[in-house]
Amino acid sequence: MELTVNDYKSSVKPIWCPGCGDYAVLNALLRAFAQLQLDPARTVVASGIGCSSRFPAFVKTYGIHGVHGRPLPLATGIKLANPDLTVVAVDKHCVEDASVIAVGGDGDGFSIGGGHFPHAARRNIDLVYIVMDNSIYGMTKGQPSPTSPEELKTKASPYGTQEEPLNPIMMALAYDATFVARTFSGQLKEMIDLFVQALQHPGFAFIQVLSPCVTFYNTYDQYRNSVRPLPAEHDPGNKMAAIQLALETETQYTGLFYRNTARPAYSQVQRQLIEQAGPKTLDDILKAYQP
Ligand code: SF4
Repeated sequence: MELTVNDYKSSVKPIWCPGCGDYAVLNALLRAFAQLQLDPARTVVASGIGCSSRFPAFVKTYGIHGVHGRPLPLATGIKLANPDLTVVAVDKHCVEDASVIAVGGDGDGFSIGGGHFPHAARRNIDLVYIVMDNSIYGMTKGQPSPTSPEELKTKASPYGTQEEPLNPIMMALAYDATFVARTFSGQLKEMIDLFVQALQHPGFAFIQVLSPCVTFYNTYDQYRNSVRPLPAEHDPGNKMAAIQLALETETQYTGLFYRNTARPAYSQVQRQLIEQAGPKTLDDILKAYQP
């Protein structure tokens, strides 16, 4: 029986402020799940802490609302603990193993949990990481976050922030993430399409969603003026071109910056290692170790 968007919705209603960009992200992810007909029993959504991290409660899959900054270690552990799940074939495409999605905000992912991002990317852990980036700490009432623009005035920075913001797309490219994309909460169709592609990507897929906080830092108008699709001629296989486009700050390009399917996902490497090791005792393994 075909699953509909409603089949992936939990009975818990989101408590985000009316107009929060995170509603669109939830809507898009539920639609992507339905489009791929993901098995809810083989799908896991992991989060940290923050407004966007409430996400797992609103989705009818497995989920964990973890501790601050830790969606990536949680999602990595879930993925590594389930290496032998069978392949789910969907619409002629294959979503290997369980689908593990880590979600969170810019404070959760780039400040408190910032140390986990490079390692999930360099290991090419087979999961999707969605950061709902509103450039502010919303849940704790509007302090500057690692992606707040310089000179942003908040209650916690009455003279304006004095720090350069991080560039999440540049970070993902520098850490060698194999799928790097940006989208905007005001562009539902593009967001669904990127989530579908990310869920099918064999490896670490990072998506920055520009998702305004209407209560503490409403950037909808700003993004409507500065967001543009990536140039039609951009080749996602060209990393240097992706870097050039990511360095643009006046224009916030959206779309798929970079994709590399040649690098094996960590779960694939892990399977090969398990096969290579075979059924051995710990003593056998220690004896085989030659420094
Ligand atoms: Fe969304 Fe901001 Fe409200 Fe949090 S405080 S729910 S980020 S609008």
